[in-house]
Amino acid sequence: MMLTRRRFLASTLLAAAWGGMPGMARASMQTPWRNWSGWLLANPKDRIAPESEDELITFLKQSSGKLRPVGAGHSFTPLVPTEGHLLVLDRLSGIVSADAGTLRARIRAGMRLGDIGEPLEAKGQAMYNLPDIDRQTLAGAISTSTHGTGLGLRSLSGYVTGLRLVTSGGDVMELSASSQPDIFNAARVSVGALGIITEVEMQNRAPFRLLSRTWIQNTEEVLESFDKLAAEWQHFELMPFLHADYSLVIAHKETSEPVRPELPVEDDSEVLSLIDSTPVMLRGALINSLATQIEPTESVLPSWNALTNVRLVRFNEMEYSVPAAEGPECLRRILDTVARAGAEATIPLEYRTIDGDDTWLGMCSGGPRVSISVHRMAIHDYRPLFDLVEPIFWEHGGRPHWGKIHTLGRNELRGLYPHFDDFNEVRTLLDPGERLLNPYLARLFKD
Ligand SMILES: Cc1cc2nc3c(=O)[nH]c(=O)nc-3n(C[C@H](O)[C@H](O)[C@H](O)COP(=O)(O)OP(=O)(O)OC[C@H]3O[C@@H](n4cnc5c(N)ncnc54)[C@H](O)[C@@H]3O)c2cc1C
Repeated sequence: MMLTRRRFLASTLLAAAWGGMPGMARASMQTPWRNWSGWLLANPKDRIAPESEDELITFLKQSSGKLRPVGAGHSFTPLVPTEGHLLVLDRLSGIVSADAGTLRARIRAGMRLGDIGEPLEAKGQAMYNLPDIDRQTLAGAISTSTHGTGLGLRSLSGYVTGLRLVTSGGDVMELSASSQPDIFNAARVSVGALGIITEVEMQNRAPFRLLSRTWIQNTEEVLESFDKLAAEWQHFELMPFLHADYSLVIAHKETSEPVRPELPVEDDSEVLSLIDSTPVMLRGALINSLATQIEPTESVLPSWNALTNVRLVRFNEMEYSVPAAEGPECLRRILDTVARAGAEATIPLEYRTIDGDDTWLGMCSGGPRVSISVHRMAIHDYRPLFDLVEPIFWEHGGRPHWGKIHTLGRNELRGLYPHFDDFNEVRTLLDPGERLLNPYLARLFKD
């Protein structure tokens, strides 16, 4: 049986645990909220879904008590859970304006990444890069420093040129590099701790098509030629299988070739289940044998369609970014440690490159980094695997992804970010009543 890459690998989603109640501006029944992986649960007092910024301001001015904004609920860390008001921004969607001269576009904060590409292309623009999936909202994505892969390509926050932020007290701030630059630098990655973002201005580029290729290759072999391959392909990543010798390589480069029809999304859950149900000591041999049967794929698609995937299998994820030079060694140590421990793990790792930016809490603030992700199917407890791997990231100078599982608190994070205290000052200034602080954010910023 020949396996296609999509069939073999699948993960992601049908859509987040629903973030709101379409058609209702205010829902006060106690419907529990869950995140995408299903591991985070909350019982918000109500769900507020403003249709406009004015409606949001009125609510903020007239209400009291705790609040948390939610995007698509795709974060794995408990940034969103609240027993207070859950602010659902789905209705703040659409492209407000696009400037053909600067190639910048103002986009409402609740718009899903996957809904942006086509209308933006119609306005002569495309986002530089996209993450692995496109179900996140724009504000949710930039709030955790969400990124894709590619040498010289920044996280989404690195392309933000302006923001509209409404504070928890209902005051509107228009932020950019020239208007309150400190608050702007804090707000480009703010985990929803500074206020509610209603609009984001993105620096884009002209639309482009990507030739996408995927293939299976020996992991050590790819690592040895990584720099060359990453320079040759505009977006380059590998997904190394744990307990095995191979990686799935995913590469994209710009092309003027015409679009070649998209491959159908296939459900890989059967193959992942097969691997998952195989005893760990036999898993390597199974994966090595399956991997050699995976066909290479090739397609040509508009960038917004080429860069993202559909993930059907739910999982939890830990991701750290380490300084670029540390990447290969950190990856080798993870592979080796997991193999030696005979640890339960099914889904491959993900290894990507991200350029540096100047946001205060961006994982890549200060210089280029490599991100390494570790996944555990949501039907299993992720802790044994993540506990085994996390100390390796620390030894390589890793910074955790704000939306993905880690165990760090305020003291460790302060050591990782030169502007951590500056961020905290801005947070205290903009949210003096701590309406936006849930227990998890208190652990990150106060304890
Ligand atoms: C299957 C899957 C694949 C993923 N792939 C990638 C990837 O390739 N690269 C990557 O970097 N990450 C990836 N992630 C992580 C994901 O991109 C982040 O967790 C992102 O923050 C989720 O966006 P969201 O819209 O779901 O926001 P949520 O998870 O709902 O919220 C994230 C944060 O944003 C805040 N927020 C939301 N809206 C607003 C607003 N309007 N104003 C202020 N704050 C707001 C929330 O309060 C919270 O703090 C993936 C996650 C999943 C589940």
